[in-house]
Amino acid sequence: MAAFKTLDDLGDVTGMVALVRVDLNLPMNGGSATDVTRVEAVKPTILELSERGAKVLLLAHFGRPGGKRSSMLSTSMVVGDVEEVLGKELMFIPEIAGPVVEQSIGILADGDIGLLDNTRFWPGEDTNDSSLAQAIAAHGDFFVNDAFSAAHRAHASTEGITHFLPSYAGRAMEAELKALDAALGNPEAPVAAVVGGAKVSSKLGVLENLVGRVQHLIIGGGMANTFLAARGVNVGKSLCEHDLTDTASRILDAADHAGCTVHLPYDVVVSKEFTANPPSLRTCNVHEVAEDEMILDIGASAVEALADVLKTCRTLVWNGPLGAFETEPFDAATVALARTAAALTSEGSLISVAGGGDTVAALAQAGVTNDVTYISTAGGAFLEWMEGKELPGVAALVASNV
Ligand code: ADP
Ligand code: MG
Repeated sequence: MAAFKTLDDLGDVTGMVALVRVDLNLPMNGGSATDVTRVEAVKPTILELSERGAKVLLLAHFGRPGGKRSSMLSTSMVVGDVEEVLGKELMFIPEIAGPVVEQSIGILADGDIGLLDNTRFWPGEDTNDSSLAQAIAAHGDFFVNDAFSAAHRAHASTEGITHFLPSYAGRAMEAELKALDAALGNPEAPVAAVVGGAKVSSKLGVLENLVGRVQHLIIGGGMANTFLAARGVNVGKSLCEHDLTDTASRILDAADHAGCTVHLPYDVVVSKEFTANPPSLRTCNVHEVAEDEMILDIGASAVEALADVLKTCRTLVWNGPLGAFETEPFDAATVALARTAAALTSEGSLISVAGGGDTVAALAQAGVTNDVTYISTAGGAFLEWMEGKELPGVAALVASNV
């Protein structure tokens, strides 16, 4: 992994102004957050800098205000939730640069924390305007990026600012980059990837990147149906992108050339109707799906075979559930394989990294959230990383030599 600086590379920061990019884009209901995971994630970085005597100025976006001020999308909306998680008071500063910020810094004592307003109120944020980045940077002595989830976008507060200040990865960013590097950057082989979810079309880039990087590609979920169809299997009325069967064949060929074994299910759980515990529920061989049935999960024999594959692997990267896990019993394969992965991880034989909105929910449903090596909640940035793309916010930290 290319080198980036961390908080360990900072000397005495007493009295210095730290500009810290965090993700406080919390899901809200009424006036308060329904989930503060993102605040928990950045808490160690904020408290460490505060305890080391820096004046900590938080930079964050909130929703999509489209370059205009909007009272409902002010970061002041999350002040209470953030204060509660940090156990400290915040000074809310309704600007991101200029005299109001300067005056506020004058009022802050060493160790105090300020929260700037929504970076996206300024049109130059999304366009990575360098004069905006410079104006923000002018208030700080150094920059810390602790928002991996925003690192796939080259914005003024994630990328532009690194051209004007010495830049460091925060603790959450550091942990995320280390975990991702251990999973795909520089992993211990053999590596298995599980790719599931609804559609091939949403994960084409992921599949194309993975065939050249992993020894075992396990395909489940709705997208497995498209691959089965490409192999001539009749998938009935399953979710299937028939127009992408050629693409699926091309990916299977690429895997073949790269020496990557692709695992498709050979038994599946099917039903005529998509409801919980439907009367027509049955498990069958993939070649026995009837015209009026749909595949909603992979079968128990397939899961057993996949568990045997994981037992031979050192590293696992997982995105996408194996079935329609929100509806019983179509969560069975995902839950069973997640528990196998968790057990192998606990035994120390597997490094397991997972990410994706529904994947995180499915692993929580399996009760293994704390038993896998790392769970990324980064969404878009995690998927772009799985596609092998360079993330501008991360690249900027590596390149920063101000
Ligand atoms: P993630 O958010 O983890 O990246 P996706 O959004 O790609 O995952 O996919 C999750 C969705 O895929 C879930 O809503 C799940 O119900 C659906 N899904 C998985 N398997 C099937 C299937 N066989 N048929 C229909 N939907 C499926
Ligand atoms: Mg999803």
